[in-house]
Amino acid sequence: MFSDLDGTLLDHDGYSFTPAKPALTALAEKGIALVPATSKTLAELDVLMGALGLDGAAIGENGAVIKFADGTIDRAVSRAEIAPALADMPEALRHAMQCFCDMSVDEIAALTGLERAAAALAAKREASEPFLWHGDAAGLADLELALTAYGLQVTQGGRFFHIVPPRDKAAAMQIMLDTYKPRPEAWALGDGPNDVTMLLAADRAALIANHHIATEKLLPHGHGLHLTNREGALGWRDAMAVFLKRDFG
Ligand SMILES: [Mg+2]
Repeated sequence: MFSDLDGTLLDHDGYSFTPAKPALTALAEKGIALVPATSKTLAELDVLMGALGLDGAAIGENGAVIKFADGTIDRAVSRAEIAPALADMPEALRHAMQCFCDMSVDEIAALTGLERAAAALAAKREASEPFLWHGDAAGLADLELALTAYGLQVTQGGRFFHIVPPRDKAAAMQIMLDTYKPRPEAWALGDGPNDVTMLLAADRAALIANHHIATEKLLPHGHGLHLTNREGALGWRDAMAVFLKRDFG
């Protein structure tokens, strides 16, 4: 199964996953692999997966980076390929963006609420660029258009927008599923606009409530997703209880 982290398995504020621990144990006991699918970097995932008791595959940077179960890493694009898109950006657009590459580790820590060491790991982007957008919706559309010339696009997470290659979490999930014969049933959990394609592509999926972003408004009619009432790790636990009960009684 595939799960977003921030706002999904981890609380939006505080990054706790304590309420999810019993469900994590239940998954492990049933031999169900949990693959994080997150906007986080592989450097952050190394630390976090250790804390979660995971050591397998992971999807980082919104699908731009895949770490397979055997440790092989695949990057859809390099960060050096994103730099020219930023350098050539019309000034009005560039000034409305506050990119990770414009910020010190202390600034990233202040914005994210992460400890300084964790913020340093968050800054280790390999294939995408998070940014805050200080412009309007029309400007954001202009930005997206400007990025298409570089084969790049924008996705929205819980806190940041991200410049990303076209490979999103859903595409990375499919690539990973294709490595298994037979293809396993895919469960997916997420809370943000950047999770929607993954949730819709999964065999079974839950949208974790998040009053900061109200992603449910983006879902198509008749989507069939399970919607949780509670947010963060509590919502994750509720969704896993529903899924596990359906399959394992
Ligand atoms: Mg999220």
